[in-house]
Order: sequence, then C-alpha cells, then structure tokens
Amino acid sequence: MSGLFDSIRASNQGTPEYQNLVAGKWQPQPEGETFEVRNPATGELIARAPSSTSREVEQAIDIARGRWSADVFPPIRRLEVMERARHLLLENADEITAIMTMESGKPITHTRKELHTTGERLMLTREETRALYGEYIPGEWVEDTRRKFAMVTRRPLGVVAALSPFNYPLFIGAAKIIPALLAGNAVVAKPASDTPLSLLLFARILQEAGVPAGMLNVLTGSGSKIGKPIMSSRHVAAITFTGSTRVGERIAETAGMKKLHLELGGKAAAIVLDDADLDHAAEQICKGVFSLSGQRCDAVSRVLVQQSVKNAFIEKALKASEKYQLGDPMDADTTMGPLINQHAVDKVTRLVEGARESGAESLTGGRHEDLFFAPTILDNVTRDMDIAREEIFGPVMPIITVADDMDALSVSNSVDYGLDGCVFSGNLDRALDMAAGMQDGTVSINSAPSHGVGHFPFGGNNRSGIGREGLKYSIDELTRLHTMIVARR
Ligand code: NAP
Ligand code: MG
Repeated sequence: MSGLFDSIRASNQGTPEYQNLVAGKWQPQPEGETFEVRNPATGELIARAPSSTSREVEQAIDIARGRWSADVFPPIRRLEVMERARHLLLENADEITAIMTMESGKPITHTRKELHTTGERLMLTREETRALYGEYIPGEWVEDTRRKFAMVTRRPLGVVAALSPFNYPLFIGAAKIIPALLAGNAVVAKPASDTPLSLLLFARILQEAGVPAGMLNVLTGSGSKIGKPIMSSRHVAAITFTGSTRVGERIAETAGMKKLHLELGGKAAAIVLDDADLDHAAEQICKGVFSLSGQRCDAVSRVLVQQSVKNAFIEKALKASEKYQLGDPMDADTTMGPLINQHAVDKVTRLVEGARESGAESLTGGRHEDLFFAPTILDNVTRDMDIAREEIFGPVMPIITVADDMDALSVSNSVDYGLDGCVFSGNLDRALDMAAGMQDGTVSINSAPSHGVGHFPFGGNNRSGIGREGLKYSIDELTRLHTMIVARR
C-alpha cells in the first residue's frame, strides 16, 4: 500500500470511514452522518461513506462555479494531469481493484479489466481533446453571408454534474469526469450508494495527479436525497447521468434548461436466424447474458430464435452456460459473482417466477442462495410476459420463438427501450437488413453487445436515453458550439 489513499479515509473502530472531496479537501459530512457499504458476496461491512445533504451539494456546486476557467486549469496542464493520473491508476491497481471487487461483488478479473479500460480512457480522451480545433466555414456559398466567414469552436459548459450507477463503479463515473475536465468544465460527481468507494479512490488519483482544487468535487449520499438539489440547481449547466430509466425520466422532468446526457436502461434482443453459426451464437449470447451476472445495460435480455433452429440453439446454449459458475469474486477463476443487493434478487425472482407461472420452463438455474443467482435459461417465454419486456439486470436468458425475419424485427422493436441489440446470421445482407430495421442506438452483427472503452459511439433511443457515449462523443455532449462571424466590408 502506497499510503496514497490515507488522506481520504479515517478508521472508526476498525472500519474505514471515507470522506467527500470538496474544494480540494477531503472532509466528512459536517454532522458525521454516514451510510454503510457492504460486500454483497459476504454481507460484511467494509466501509462507511458520508451521507451528504443538500447543504454540501450547494457548497460543492458553488465552489465548482467559482473555479472553472482556463486560467485555473490551462489546457496543456489538463493533458499532463491525465497522463500522470493514468500512471497512478496503474501503480495502485491492486488496491483499487480489491476494493472495487469487495464493494460490487464483481469478479476480480472483471474489475482488473475495468481499471485497465479506465486507464485507456484517460489516454484516448486526451488525444480526442487535442483534436478539438474547431471549424472554419466560408460564407461565399450563400448570398446572406457572402463577405463573411465563421469560426466554430467547442467551449466548456461550466459546472457538470456526473451521476453514476453501481455496475461499473470506476469506469462509468471516470468516463464522465475525464472528458468533462479535459474539455474545461468543473465537476460535481456522485457515485451510486451501493458502490461509492472506487470513484472516491479515482478522485484521489486525479487530485494527486494535479487537478486543481475545486475543479473536481465528489459527494456520496442517497440519490433520493441529494439528487433533487443537484438537478434543480441554477448553477449546474449539464447533467451527465447513467442509471435506470426511472431516475433518468425524473431528471428530465426536473432539470429545466440544462444540457442532459442520459444513458439509461436497456432490453437487448439477440436475434438468432436459421442460417446462424449456432456454436458461435450460443457462446456469444451466454457471454451477453451471464457476464457480470447480467448487471449490464447492454446485457442480452431476450433471445429471439427462429423455430427451426431453436432446439439446436438451446442444446448449445446449455453447454456454453456451464462456463459461468458462481464463486468468490476475489478468486481469479470465478466467472460470476452475486447480484448487488436484495432488491435486485427480489426483482429477478419476481420476473422468473412470473414467467414460470405463465408457462415458461426453466431449463437450468432459476434459484438463488443469498445474493448469488444461478445462470438461468427459460424456454417457452412469450412476448407478452413481463420478463420479455422489462429490463432484468440478472443472469437470465428468456427464449422466445419467432417465425421469420419480419416477426423477429417486430418483437425486437416492441419494447420501450432502444439501447442495444444483436443479430446472428451467416448472410451479411440479411443481417444488415435486420440491423437497419432495429430501433436500438447500437446493433452488433455476430457478436454480443459490448461497449468497452467507448471506441465506437453508443447510447439509447426511446426510453433508453438521450445522447451518445464514446471517446469523441462524450466530449461533444460536455461542450457547446460557439460561433464567431467575421465580415469584410
Ligand atoms: P439507479 O438506481 O438509477 O442509480 C443511478 C444513480 O442515480 C445512482 O448514483 C443513484 O444514487 C442516483 N439516484 C437515485 N435516485 C435518484 C434521484 N431521485 N435523483 C438523482 N439521482 C438519483 O441505477 P443503478 O441501479 O445504480 O444502475 C443500474 C441501471 O443503470 C440499469 O437500469 C442500467 O441499465 C443502467 N445503466 C445504463 C448504462 C448505459 O450506458 N445506458 C450503463 C450502465 C447502467 P443512489 O445509489 O444513492 O440511489
Ligand atoms: Mg440503485
């Protein structure tokens, strides 16, 4: 242990008590209010974090508002700081991934990958920011602007609020903070209460790397309590939020005239056509359904398979699912950990039980022990069941039979979401026709959806959100266009 993180937590009877970062200082909630952070794999208390109130939120926003300027954090310094942060992140990888695994229950192989991807994001967003030179637009093309030209540049928005979910405790928050700071904004960030620690560690790294005091503020606490003062603040210029559709819609209703970037829930369909390579489809779809126990916005959440290949597909999917075994998340051989909390287990149980009562058949799994839900495959799911329409966020593969391409497309497009989808076919023309007709923001052909570092843009349509994530696209979301027009007399 390097001691780098000593300043962000104190020990209270052996339990670490983490602090908020405001105005460049680590500080507890003034009345000492905290909430518990528990390991979902063991139930063990691992830390406490501040239960912030609207007062701390207002203070953090005020500080951020007074700080964001190119004088405080000049562009060339931002590039240096992000490079230094990448090295510090990698140097402290073991401690960060151990804490991330404990707070989230994600297998250690996944949290190591998440940390590595966050390092790549630091590197690649730097490069994208450097390419933001703007545009020159000649006016000659139009009579109105004949002796004019315009220079169009991207400018920071001001104070950006970054709210992130539990499922990628480090990466999603970082993927908001990094482009926001590089583009010249100040940030007030709030991680999910199930997994608040990883983002606090990341904030410490950015501070050590040289982010000036007040440019990045991180507060923990219940979203239902401190969400409102963040959303309704006149001094917050933009909200970048990743989380559930329910909360995203609340933000859209409350925020008023702010720029909104909302990455919300999904219900990815995997369409398996009768000419697909079924071994490959089964392997990819199991990965899409079961990795991170299905707690991914881009998780495959329903399989639409053509009748003639259904039995063959099921046989292969059952075999491929054996690779996913529940176990201790700290063990490098574990492929699946627990769900995040009891509420998540109850929701998955309700959907699976409801489907069974309406005639679905469980081919494997369907059980849980504590928070560990077994990989589950459900046959004979019909398109009107809740499990065919709602986001599951658990390791369940509902199989729905479709007649042909048109039928697959119509079922695929019948849900409220529109984030991801995928098509498996041996005929590229056929797959492209399907992909073009799907309502999702991103469609993958012959692979399960996976967003990685954000090299390709992604984001939702319908109730899956507003805006696009990605190396360049996130910078676009966190800046605004500024046009200067020059006239020659
Ligand atoms: P969530 O319950 O919506 O929480 C997300 C964040 O919002 C948390 O920080 C939460 O704080 C906060 N929050 C809760 N209530 C709030 C309120 N009234 N006002 C403002 N903020 C509030 O989501 P989650 O359960 O953590 O994450 C799972 C969801 O995220 C899934 O629906 C998944 O599809 C979605 N997701 C989407 C993407 C994407 O790219 N589209 C990626 C990952 C996840 P507390 O923790 O304190 O409640
Ligand atoms: Mg939650």
